[in-house]
Parts: sequence; structure tokens; C-alpha cells
Amino acid sequence: MTRAIYPGSFDPFHNGHLDIARRAAGLFDELLVTVFDAPAKQLLFSTDERIELAGEALEDVKNITIVSYSGLTVKWAQRHGIRVIVRGLRNVDDLSFESRIDMANRLMAPQIETCYLLCSTDYVYLSSTILKEVASLDGDVSHWVTPHTEEALRQRFAERKQ
Ligand code: ADP
Repeated sequence: MTRAIYPGSFDPFHNGHLDIARRAAGLFDELLVTVFDAPAKQLLFSTDERIELAGEALEDVKNITIVSYSGLTVKWAQRHGIRVIVRGLRNVDDLSFESRIDMANRLMAPQIETCYLLCSTDYVYLSSTILKEVASLDGDVSHWVTPHTEEALRQRFAERKQ
């Protein structure tokens, strides 16, 4: 049985992430979507909220579980007996960034492989940052997230404007 993790900040989980997670779930017996609890960025949603939003988007995919994690991704994977990390690639900038992480990871955990999936053309320009920027300005994000996440974004930015 091959288990893989798909780590990220997922602030929030969007359709580009959904596409990668669904495709990875078709390749491995079990996929853990692992939500990093303390990324070095300002977060819009708490860890619990990010887990809930990802869980709602993925609720129909049977072999996916969503959990939070902290610390180094490879160390967490090692502790849980997982040998595959899944990452999505949008463009050569992602490839360049990811290859540096991959090399550092290999030094720390040579038995772990990272599997890259090229994102679908529909989401090649999509990032959580762009998504949040458009949502904060009351733009339409319905083609990028589930209706549930769209509502969560609307509420969060409404709270911030109060
Ligand atoms: P990070 O892990 O760098 O904080 P994210 O949480 O946004 O960034 O992304 C998690 C994973 O999803 C990464 O592998 C990233 O490349 C991938 N990803 C981000 N945006 C997209 C997208 N639009 N399409 C496909 N994959 C994406």
C-alpha cells in the first residue's frame, strides 16, 4: 500500500489544489493532505479553518484524509512511514523553487521521493495570494473555489472591514 502526502499552506484550499489532490488520490492508495500549521506567511485562515475548507472541497474523495502538521515535512513523513510527497507545478518558477526544496529534503531523507504533477491549464495562473486579493476586493472567485470557501472568504473579509 502506497501512502503519499500533499503538503501545503492551503490558505485557503482552491481548485488548483483540488485538481492536484484528486489526481494524486488516483495514483496512490491513500493521500494525506497535510496542512502546515505555521508557514512563514500571514495567514487568513486558522489551521482548523484551513482543514475544514479543504475537507469540504474533498469530501467525496474516499482515500483522502486531511490533517495538520508542524515542523519539517520530510521528518513528519518519516515518522509516519510515508515515502512519497506530492507537489503541484504551475510553471518553471515553481520548478526552480521546488527543486531546491527537493535537494534539501533528499539530504535529510534520501528514501523519500517527491512526485510532481503539472497543474491543469485552467489553474496555471491561480495562487492563494491572487485568490485572496480578488476576494478582498469583492471580485468573483466562484470559478476558483467551492461555494463554501467562497462564503468563508466573503465572511472573513467582511469581518476585517468592520
Ligand atoms: P505553499 O506550499 O508553497 O505554501 P500552497 O499551499 O499554495 O503553497 O501550495 C501547496 C501545493 O499546491 C504546492 O505544491 C503548490 O505548487 C501547489 N499549487 C499551488 N497553486 C496551484 C495551482 N494553481 N495549481 C496546481 N497546484 C498548485
